[in-house]
Amino acid sequence: MTNIQDKVVIITGASSGIGEATARELASKGAKLVLAARREERLKKLQEEIQNKGGQVIYKVTDVASQEQVEELAKYTLKEYGKIDVMVNNAGVMPLSPISQLKIKEWDTMIDVNIKGVLYGIAAVLPFMRERKEGHIINVSSIAGHLVFPASSVYSGTKFAVRAITEGLRREEYSNNIRTTIISPGTIDTELLDAISDLELKAASVEANKKVQIEPASIARAIAFAIEQPSDVAINEMIIRPTIQEL
Ligand code: NDP
Repeated sequence: MTNIQDKVVIITGASSGIGEATARELASKGAKLVLAARREERLKKLQEEIQNKGGQVIYKVTDVASQEQVEELAKYTLKEYGKIDVMVNNAGVMPLSPISQLKIKEWDTMIDVNIKGVLYGIAAVLPFMRERKEGHIINVSSIAGHLVFPASSVYSGTKFAVRAITEGLRREEYSNNIRTTIISPGTIDTELLDAISDLELKAASVEANKKVQIEPASIARAIAFAIEQPSDVAINEMIIRPTIQEL
């Protein structure tokens, strides 16, 4: 039996990529999962797949940019499973562009999903975790939360913010026995580049990524590793790059 068995884990952005792979990994280790994202068909399909393998999983369609919906997600989890052990704030978008293109709507979306979505996720679960004096909040940042690349200024800004918020949360809540983990993936083969609206930049990014990217299951294993530590051990931060990725 692993230390993941029967833990109740909410995963945002579970309809594709890293979130979907994390759901598969944690289900195989006996977690009770709550999948969240906007695309219901994808969540339903993943739920069926996991259930067919004997996993325990429910889902709730959730837009993390809505504080009300994230609150409802936590309430639904408590109603169905009675507790929340782990919150994986993974949902994120990356419509890269140089600042000079002034794609202000895309900046707003990145701030709403990547920063506010993470904050809403924290707000939705923290009171219950404080009450139980136990819990684990895992926030997905990025290599772009450590470095700024051309066209990544705003995206990096959101991912730096995720790291700052998570470290602040750790320092405020460690004495309440709440663990925090920052996950910073390198280049992973997911749908993340789909949101880039500058077609030339998108094509160049797809080409560059092809050379180095690794499977989302690599990140799922790191998340599982953080969760399965004994409760007095906190893996506070992990960077997981493809071996052949320089920056
Ligand atoms: P994907 O595009 O494959 O997955 C993104 C997920 O976020 C989807 O499930 C999507 O679901 C969800 N999502 C987007 N907007 C919202 C929203 N408003 N409300 C709820 N869910 C939303 O990309 P990844 O798996 O790569 O991304 C997961 C995380 O990993 C992100 O935070 C990303 O920044 C980070 N990351 C990824 C890297 C990579 O190379 N792939 C590198 C470093 C970090 P739906 O559209 O159904 O709502």
